[in-house]
Amino acid sequence: MSMNIAIDGPAGAGKSTIAKRLAKNLGFIYVDTGAMYRAMAYYFLQNGIAADDEAAIAAACPKVDVTIAYENSEQQVILNGGNVNGVIRTEEVGNMASATSVYPVVREKLVELQRQLAARADVIMDGRDIGTCVLPDAQVKIYLTASSATRAKRRFDELVAKGISCDLTEIERDIIDRDYRDMHRETSPLKQADDAVLVDSSAMDIDEVVAAITKVYERAISA
Ligand code: C5P
Repeated sequence: MSMNIAIDGPAGAGKSTIAKRLAKNLGFIYVDTGAMYRAMAYYFLQNGIAADDEAAIAAACPKVDVTIAYENSEQQVILNGGNVNGVIRTEEVGNMASATSVYPVVREKLVELQRQLAARADVIMDGRDIGTCVLPDAQVKIYLTASSATRAKRRFDELVAKGISCDLTEIERDIIDRDYRDMHRETSPLKQADDAVLVDSSAMDIDEVVAAITKVYERAISA
């Protein structure tokens, strides 16, 4: 049986940075499920489909093929045969992903793919509903969070480092909106699974978070 680690939490909590480090240390495959929702969102944006047009989204879903490949252990998202990794990291695509991931028709497709990946290999998978819905039997479940101010500042620093001009207040507002939508949607809302360990990284650096989760993992495998 494969070993699965689920990491859920709100936008900007550091899930992907931490999950990548852990995957490397433990020899697991990292699966970034947000990138899959972003790829679908990118398709909707490219095709002029509005986030509130559920009928158009449902009609488009069968035409969207999302798969995952790995290049130098980096996850690549393939949308209808083309690699979209380079174009899905914008705030526009992130907000569209949050707005369109509310639809069961979008989620069903991606959850199926995620479960197939987890059945085949030892994975560390991050997202919003991994511990609660996608992999309810994951041996390790983490709910990684941080205050909205901390998360906004991290995102702001990332964008500034890339030379992108941005506004901290606007970023925090976007994060709060996104949290609200992700936590209050009807299907698979973001919440801590009953058996997940809460890690609040507001006052922790990356090494400290990695060490804390590694401890949870070691406890789980020795149990
Ligand atoms: O994690 P990331 O910011 O890339 O995710 C983009 C959006 O995709 C999230 O705001 C959320 O609405 C959606 N998502 C989801 N379920 C997941 C992963 C992401 O609904 N497992």
